[in-house]
Amino acid sequence: MKKLFYIITFFTFYLGFTQNHFYRPIEYDILLSGNFGEIRSSGFHTGIDIKTKGKVGEIIRSIDDGYISRIQVSTVGYGKVIYINHSNGLKSVYGHLQDFSKEIDDQIKYFQYKAETFTLNKFFKENEVKIKAGQIIGYSGNTGTSFGPHLHFEIRTHNDIPLNPLNYNYKVADSIRPEVRKLFAYKEKKGSLFKKRLKIKKINDSIYQTQLKSVDTIFFGIETIDKQSFTYNVNGTYKILLKEKNNDLIEFKFDSLTFDEKRLFLKHLDFRELIENNSKIILLNNEIDSDYKFVRRNQSGKFYVKNLETKDITIQLSDLDKNNTYVKIKMIGDSIEKFGGIKSVEFNKKIRADLSYDLTYNNANVKFKKNTFYRDTTIDFDFKNDTLYLMNPYIPVNKSFSINFPINVNSKKGLYLARSDKNGNSFFSSSKLKDNFFIANTKSLGKYFLDYDTIKPIIKKIGKNKTIDKNQKLGYLINDEETGIKKYKAYINDKWALFEYEPKKNYIQFRPDNFINLKNENNLLIEIEDMVGNVTIYREIFFFKN
Ligand SMILES: [Zn+2]
Repeated sequence: MKKLFYIITFFTFYLGFTQNHFYRPIEYDILLSGNFGEIRSSGFHTGIDIKTKGKVGEIIRSIDDGYISRIQVSTVGYGKVIYINHSNGLKSVYGHLQDFSKEIDDQIKYFQYKAETFTLNKFFKENEVKIKAGQIIGYSGNTGTSFGPHLHFEIRTHNDIPLNPLNYNYKVADSIRPEVRKLFAYKEKKGSLFKKRLKIKKINDSIYQTQLKSVDTIFFGIETIDKQSFTYNVNGTYKILLKEKNNDLIEFKFDSLTFDEKRLFLKHLDFRELIENNSKIILLNNEIDSDYKFVRRNQSGKFYVKNLETKDITIQLSDLDKNNTYVKIKMIGDSIEKFGGIKSVEFNKKIRADLSYDLTYNNANVKFKKNTFYRDTTIDFDFKNDTLYLMNPYIPVNKSFSINFPINVNSKKGLYLARSDKNGNSFFSSSKLKDNFFIANTKSLGKYFLDYDTIKPIIKKIGKNKTIDKNQKLGYLINDEETGIKKYKAYINDKWALFEYEPKKNYIQFRPDNFINLKNENNLLIEIEDMVGNVTIYREIFFFKN
């Protein structure tokens, strides 16, 4: 019996079982390059980023028995991603994969060939594609919106509420306390916001101290990060707790959150710090609703101290391994402390966040829905010299808005709607042509104007290989300087062929598969189109050696 116990213990340890009988998705200890709930420019991170030794092609396994409910292949977002539903009501997600396992890949290729598309979003019925616990499902990569090899891993409920995977007993070595990066005190006076950065003094390993003299009502804003052992990566902090003496006032604890909250929460950050310094200062005030899944709030988070009295406030930062940091703030009722004003830059058009707007100027029209902006704001709205000005570089935009841009030129060949940002960089702006207007839906403020792109996309073969075998590939660099690649199609011997596209590296590639019958001599045709319809056609003859 004892022996059996040891064997089981050995195997559960060896295979990386957790107490919930979840396998590790990778074959070695988990190191994180991102954690659950950390704030990104797109909002909260809804999973963990697991390091894959800086490489692509590492084995990825299913954490439990289940069935594949969805597979997506995309050049953005999660790239190649697998969703597996498990019987305990949970779903696991494996993103940015380089490749699927052979069995899964064959099934996906069938649908790619059927629809003649590389990108795909395929849902599967229950038990259509069964998966065993620990089964190899794919290989780690860097596909989609990923800027370095890693596995983006999520655990969700079946109805897509992301949960913190580290609550499922995955071991991540961590003896490092969370850190406070920046601490601000804010006060509102006569409708303006004033702020002061507080100097923090380290008392010992876990305690930091600061003091603030004020007789005004104050709230605090904090930027915090956390690291785990054996890595240099800077990640988010699991728990932030604002306390006065022993009373918990506001607590953030990232066990779960929703996709609605993912982006909405950006409204609780200090916008100026976010846009000018990329600092994620969470404002601990009464605007934070306890309806958020990760928030517990008993009081407003605003503090007032009478003249000559004091108040002891603590912000406690914790990780999942109970490493704690305490930031102790002594508030002293004294009026001598100087606050800096936050200069709000005012523009010509006032926008209330809770109203919708339909603005027309010289035939150009802009429509903002309610809550397009997180807070009341102003924007520079003008149409002069054939340019639509829609500017406020100091605010993030919550929801997309529509622009109807009048076309006052005769030649429409290569014409497109362009946008330039506050730094003067120009971009192609996706839009539809309708009744002499470009209609765009966008989240980007800036200057909008018309421009022409008459230059065709370019294509260049990688390497000089004219003959390939079944383990080799055909690769090409494709690029379009001005507006970018809209689509590409490739045919081998007049049959549509699956070419994978990696826009980060501007390449497309073909690997011999079971769906294309390669002959000794093969005709390849590639057609690439840019965003305005300039087309380049490329032809080649290549040889296949079985
Ligand atoms: Zn991620």
